[in-house]
Amino acid sequence: MHTKRLVLAGGGHVHLPVLARLDAFAAAGITVVCIAPGPYLAYSGMGPGLLAGRYALAELRFPIAAMAARPGAEFVRGTVAAIDPAGRRLRLADGREIAYDAVSFGLGSRVVPDFPGNDRPGPVVYTAKPIENLLLARQAIESRVEAGGTVRVMVAGGGAAGFELAAGVLGLFDRLGVKTPSLTVAAPRGLLPGWPDRAGRLAEASLTRRGATICAARVVGLAGRGAALSDGTTRPCDFVLAATGTRPPDLFAAAGLSAEADGGLMVTARLQSPFHPEIFGGGDCIHFGPAPLPRAGVYAVRQGPVLAANLLAFLAGRELLPFRDTGKNYLALLNCGDGRAILRKGPFVAEGTWAMTLKDWIDRRFMRSFPLRP
Ligand SMILES: Cc1cc2nc3c(=O)[nH]c(=O)nc-3n(C[C@H](O)[C@H](O)[C@H](O)COP(=O)(O)OP(=O)(O)OC[C@H]3O[C@@H](n4cnc5c(N)ncnc54)[C@H](O)[C@@H]3O)c2cc1C
Repeated sequence: MHTKRLVLAGGGHVHLPVLARLDAFAAAGITVVCIAPGPYLAYSGMGPGLLAGRYALAELRFPIAAMAARPGAEFVRGTVAAIDPAGRRLRLADGREIAYDAVSFGLGSRVVPDFPGNDRPGPVVYTAKPIENLLLARQAIESRVEAGGTVRVMVAGGGAAGFELAAGVLGLFDRLGVKTPSLTVAAPRGLLPGWPDRAGRLAEASLTRRGATICAARVVGLAGRGAALSDGTTRPCDFVLAATGTRPPDLFAAAGLSAEADGGLMVTARLQSPFHPEIFGGGDCIHFGPAPLPRAGVYAVRQGPVLAANLLAFLAGRELLPFRDTGKNYLALLNCGDGRAILRKGPFVAEGTWAMTLKDWIDRRFMRSFPLRP
């Protein structure tokens, strides 16, 4: 009997339920190959706490390579560079080719700063993704403080990720005993645009009472030892943390699998490509055809079980399920970096230490829900 091969391109949050069900795939005679650049996936929900020094990296990593170390499955360390839909194969950055009977993309998204880089010595830029960058930023700040130097940080972006990074830096400053924190947030549309007004006000108060400055301008470039803003000013800074929005990888548009300007993998309600039925995907890297979804992990988490069921059903010749859980009224919790969190559920907004206790409990429960399966 020909063993069918399912390739998981990327070990994102959306693929965790597939990795947790490898026994079911093996029982159906399906070999699963998971391709990812490294053996771990960092859980973004705890990323800002990593920056603040609340969590160690080991507390927020899923061991995806170990999860894939099962009979009938394989972990391939590599980066997918191109898709050949007609030939049903992927090309990796190192030139290797991997054939598939079905493929599922969980490649996530990347932060591409909307300002040019610096070709002279100047501020070091860390993007909010991959999450491991937040540990690098923390270590760079720690080293500077330990060496007795001043640290000036600019956060580019005032959305949920930008707020959490700014709050995390303030939490780190506090942990390190920095007396005069220097943190500017470039938030051209204010903090938490699109959220209820009260959330924006709470976020602003949380940052400014700890000494941060909020600028209604965006970073337009790096100028020597600072960041140039769209209001014509230049703010001195040593580090820039960029949370200027996320984009799917380019490879879908290059393969003709994207029908949208955002370049995401076009999928139907069944999380399946309308162009090639053996191509699936979920999470931040897709464009969900029936109703575009925000790039939030909550959708990756909701889509994961449907994706796992559909991949199994597709390869076994059974009927596929639609993904219907598209509601936007989900519980959102933002880590304020000082033991508090801002909670939003629909129009309801609140802040407190109890909200951070709840966030920590939910995040740790999520980590435990995918135990290492050696
Ligand atoms: C600081 C921060 C905090 C956040 N907090 C929250 C939160 O609290 N709640 C929430 O709902 N959302 C949150 N998000 C958004 C959340 O991170 C994403 O929506 C979620 O991670 C998307 O999951 P995914 O499965 O699509 O991809 P990801 O989980 O991002 O995983 C993608 C994987 O693909 C791999 N990969 C990428 N390119 C390639 C390639 N070419 N070849 C092979 N592998 C590749 C990556 O290494 C990674 O392992 C946050 C984002 C940030 C930046």
